[in-house]
Amino acid sequence: MPIVNVTAPEQAERYEIHIGHGLLSHAAPLLAMCAGRRAMIVTDENVAPLYADALRDQLELAGAQVSLFVLPAGETTKCMAQLERLYDAFLDAHLTRKDYVIALGGGVVGDLTGYAACTYLRGVHLIQVPTTLLAQVDSSVGGKVAVNHPRGKNLLGAFYQPERVLIDCDTLKTLDARQVGAGLGEVIKYGCIADAALFERIESLGSREALMPELDQIVARCCEIKAWYVQEDPHDHGVRMQLNYGHTLAHALENGMGYGVLLHGEAVCIGMVAAAKWGEALGVTPAGTDERIERVLLAYGLPTKEPEGLSRKQLAATMALDKKAEGSKVNVVLLTQIGACTGMPVDSEKLAQML
Ligand code: NAD
Ligand code: ZN
Repeated sequence: MPIVNVTAPEQAERYEIHIGHGLLSHAAPLLAMCAGRRAMIVTDENVAPLYADALRDQLELAGAQVSLFVLPAGETTKCMAQLERLYDAFLDAHLTRKDYVIALGGGVVGDLTGYAACTYLRGVHLIQVPTTLLAQVDSSVGGKVAVNHPRGKNLLGAFYQPERVLIDCDTLKTLDARQVGAGLGEVIKYGCIADAALFERIESLGSREALMPELDQIVARCCEIKAWYVQEDPHDHGVRMQLNYGHTLAHALENGMGYGVLLHGEAVCIGMVAAAKWGEALGVTPAGTDERIERVLLAYGLPTKEPEGLSRKQLAATMALDKKAEGSKVNVVLLTQIGACTGMPVDSEKLAQML
């Protein structure tokens, strides 16, 4: 069973990410730190009936006094009203700083529960049990926790590391195929920016069915890559921007189409092909890279082109407002080859021409 070690410099703490198939049903030894403590499982209404009992059993086996709090599913849950409900639940359960909060679910549950755990009593112990592919390879690693504000996504947040992350790849068997695909988009991104061998493995497996048995190894590799970036740049001021490969256009697409029409990972797929084309046009990316990425995405049933009817002018204008923009230039991540990349300021006019 793969274990990825993460060192979080700002807290001088190390924690382990344990990854395996069927891990949830024998997780008690990995939850031993909860012995004699209260442990509140926070999850959502979709995940609760599937996995809450298994996790509860393992926590009880580990010697914890377990309670459960179920949130509504979906992005709108990542809000201040639900955060307040969560604080009330923590207070009602008499959680102290010695006790544990366990986030069981996708990125929404992980981000909200993490933020609550970070702020309640200035921090209670947090364990992440991510159950979407996106949460397993992205949101549960790196310690970013957040809630949305009516004026924007993730505007209230913090860096707060979990004490442990448990990833059971078998939980993905119940996940909607489209959600799995969105996670695969981010998996392929890791190959593009940092690991040619990972990209080639995904390329040669060639389908979701063939990839599934190797998913624990692949998830582990993605967690290692993300953990490397987090350790190099814990507060997201430098090299961590490389994780935003494909995200310049993705954010503009999500914004232009209304959030939720394209899943984030789907928008990233389209953005990765576009960024490869930009890199080729600018002489940074080897010719044909865009087609190679496109072939892999298509083999995994992922989108590669922006939907018809979108205004290019509007997309370009949104990209120019990208939070990574400086003056008239937008910082774009471009591939120097499959498995390596660089950040580069590109004039927003030039970007508009290449769209
Ligand atoms: P999500 O949490 O909304 O989960 C997607 C859907 O799948 C939900 O309906 C959920 O109930 C359901 N679900 C979850 N696990 C399931 C399972 N095993 N079986 C069946 N259904 C299941 O979405 P997400 O894509 O996991 O996360 C998106 C959130 O993550 C966004 O809010 C985004 O901002 C955040 N995010 C955070 C970071 C970070 O670094 N903190 C990084 C990327 C994304
Ligand atoms: Zn992303």
